Amino acid sequence: MVSLKSDREISLMRKASVIVARILDEMAGMAKPGVSTGELDKFAEARTRELGAQPAFKGYHGFPASVCISVNDEVVHGIPSPKRILKEGDIVGLDFGVIHDGWYGDSARTVAVGSILPAAQKLLDATRQGLMLGIEQCHEGNRVFDIGHAIQKYVEGFGFSVVREFVGHGIGRALHEEPQIPNYGPKGKGIPLKVGMVLAIEPMINAGGYQVRVLEDGWTAVTVDRSLSAHFEHTVAITSKGPEILTLI
Ligand code: MG
Ligand code: MG
Repeated sequence: MVSLKSDREISLMRKASVIVARILDEMAGMAKPGVSTGELDKFAEARTRELGAQPAFKGYHGFPASVCISVNDEVVHGIPSPKRILKEGDIVGLDFGVIHDGWYGDSARTVAVGSILPAAQKLLDATRQGLMLGIEQCHEGNRVFDIGHAIQKYVEGFGFSVVREFVGHGIGRALHEEPQIPNYGPKGKGIPLKVGMVLAIEPMINAGGYQVRVLEDGWTAVTVDRSLSAHFEHTVAITSKGPEILTLI
């Protein structure tokens, strides 16, 4: 069952989403050589509470932190640590969500630490642009696989690959709602998109093969071939005028 949100509910989700965007901006600015992923997580949690919200991921299925921070070949669900120090040339995925007034917002981006190799920059640019092309498909009358199809077609054009094991999702009063949104698949398939759906679209794109595995910590997903991976996500409302990205400021 896919829940449809009213305009009023979407405006409440916008408030949660703007808090997410603001804190992601601040974390992105802090992601410099010498900073630990644990520091970024601590900052985000404190800022979230200061802005009147709660971190959405802390304790979710037992996740121990407020932000999923995934460096280089880590795909998603990396656990922040004061021992994990960012260094020049790293790429760092920051995946963050909050609950505000009972509504969730969820967004992610992968940022450069200092100066990075051109190949890494290309992966970041293609993943971000793939997300934007997926979002452009968010019109009533299209179908859910149109989103993933647009993403897959674009990023595979660069020789990159789409992670299969993790997908985007509906979002609202719960972090993960129906429908699932794969970042790959056939055009014109899946459930019809409707005005009032709010979707967290989140391509995870690998420079090498699409296979991932989870480390012994039970959370951190890494690429099997150790190639770099990037992750971008927005919470998007489907309106009568088309997609509105809620996690943008
Ligand atoms: Mg997320
Ligand atoms: Mg998500």
